[in-house]
Amino acid sequence: MKIDSSDIKEVLLSSKQIDARLGELAVEIGEHYASTREDLILLGVLSGATIVMSDFSRKLDIHTQIDWMSLSSYGSGTKSSGVVRVLKDMTLDVRGRDVLIVEDILDSGVTLSWLVQNLHSRGANSVEIVTLLKKQREDVDYSKRPSPKWVGFEIPDQFVVGYGLDYAGRYRSLPYIGILDPKVYE
Ligand code: IMP
Ligand code: MG
Repeated sequence: MKIDSSDIKEVLLSSKQIDARLGELAVEIGEHYASTREDLILLGVLSGATIVMSDFSRKLDIHTQIDWMSLSSYGSGTKSSGVVRVLKDMTLDVRGRDVLIVEDILDSGVTLSWLVQNLHSRGANSVEIVTLLKKQREDVDYSKRPSPKWVGFEIPDQFVVGYGLDYAGRYRSLPYIGILDPKVYE
């Protein structure tokens, strides 16, 4: 089925803007990890982070190893309960390793807080987060939200799709990030 272009109310970030920002982040992050003893582990949470991982990792000029986890966070609607279930665990052993979580979007941060703690308890040497998007939310308990060391763009509290982000499994393959027209979910 063809994608109806009117499903997207507004293009928030073009693929060119995303590409340029990922380039800047790759320079900063490459410098930050330039002298680590072992290869940096890039950990992506499936499936939203797949596109940012593939574009971002190819801009880095340091040795990396890519791994994935699939997590499901219980809860209804827009609120996560904080109970996280591992659907697919990572393959690499993080003990003593530097881990960079590569994320598409930081919203409530419930799942990511759990993941950061989990990686520390497995003995990771360091755990940091790079997220392409960070949502500005009024209703979030910020003390519980992890602070990503690197953020691509801060965006308003609107539901966005594209570049890995989905609505009901759709729109992940859009090359830009757009605000979904409410007609799609109303
Ligand atoms: P959290 O609330 O920070 O735990 O976000 C959990 C997940 O919700 C994110 O990793 C995304 O997969 C998804 N999510 C949050 N906001 C959006 C959005 O605006 N569009 C699409 N997915 C979103
Ligand atoms: Mg995600």
